[in-house]
Amino acid sequence: MAHFLSHIVPFTAYPYKGEAAACNLCGSDSTLDICRKDRRWKKLGTVACAECGLMRTQPMPNDAELEAY
Ligand SMILES: [Zn+2]
Repeated sequence: MAHFLSHIVPFTAYPYKGEAAACNLCGSDSTLDICRKDRRWKKLGTVACAECGLMRTQPMPNDAELEAY
């Protein structure tokens, strides 16, 4: 139950650390911050690639964290 609640309580981070990831489209590491909260008001970084504009979660959960989610 505590793990479930950690996914819905606003203003708190999701239970993962994630990793910085390069752009999946062009490979650039250069980003522009778009938002630091998601639609549930939880801490979740969204960035846009400064080269091509593709948006992504940053830091991106790693494979093990996605599996746990
Ligand atoms: Zn890009």
